[in-house]
Amino acid sequence: MGLFSKKPPCPICGGKIPLILPSKIEDEYICNTCYNKIDMGADQENHLTMQGLREYLAFYEQNQRLKEQFVISERIDFGLWDTKIIFDHRNKLFCMSKNPDKTVFEGQQLKSFTIKEDSTPLFEGSAAGIRRYASTVTERTMAMAPQIAQSAANRRMARTLDRLDDGKVNNSAPVQYFDIPEPFQAFNVELHFDHPYWTVLQCDMDGPRFDNSHPDVNNYLRSYQQSIEEIEKLVAALRTVAFPGAAEQSVGLGPVGMQAAYTTMAPPTDAIEEIKKYKALMEDGIISQQEFEAKKKQLLGI
Ligand SMILES: [Zn+2]
Repeated sequence: MGLFSKKPPCPICGGKIPLILPSKIEDEYICNTCYNKIDMGADQENHLTMQGLREYLAFYEQNQRLKEQFVISERIDFGLWDTKIIFDHRNKLFCMSKNPDKTVFEGQQLKSFTIKEDSTPLFEGSAAGIRRYASTVTERTMAMAPQIAQSAANRRMARTLDRLDDGKVNNSAPVQYFDIPEPFQAFNVELHFDHPYWTVLQCDMDGPRFDNSHPDVNNYLRSYQQSIEEIEKLVAALRTVAFPGAAEQSVGLGPVGMQAAYTTMAPPTDAIEEIKKYKALMEDGIISQQEFEAKKKQLLGI
């Protein structure tokens, strides 16, 4: 005990400094209670001085009042790492957590926001207006249908060939995985602030993923549509708390909406060629009639 008890108490509150991995600001140890109150942008936190921490704690106490006043009217789930954003529409507040236990922002502190599909803008918002850009994800996904069908066919073929291989287990054969790159990886959300401790807050919402064993364009587009609905809710909520007067504007959206483009697509002409190939394989006895029929249905999307 002797060694540890020599550590002076927390210079902020006089509390106990933890024995294990105590936190340090400049050259002074501070207690966990004080340290855990720090919630600010990485840039600000990396340059935090003891004086800065004292000033921040005054801000923190003020922010406590907003936390107490917060009534959750909407909660939006980002999926990854359980990240959530909650809104108080009436008091025009929001907080990046599932409860108001982190910094509570006032709507007027939000300067602008952007939501991108990887690096392609989907939404941009500020007091000047909310812009929605046309997305090419649906078209790009549809264009991948032949590739996805081919990938599934290759896997089925590998399995069939394995079965023909005298029942011998071939351990050296590579395992077949679907390795289809998604049209985009994530919705990148960026909130820009006019705030003493936050310049920008970034968070990602994962884009949909193709199923590893049964990749399917329609399933993908259904999950994509669900994500878009979440994103639209987020945009509407940000608008309510920060830019209630902002007009909405669509940029580059044609008369055919996303949903329409998705339901009116004819099977790609490549599919017909693919079916002919499988028919030949069936006639050669390499695949069964059942496998051929399944393939045909899949390629035609029926
Ligand atoms: Zn302390």
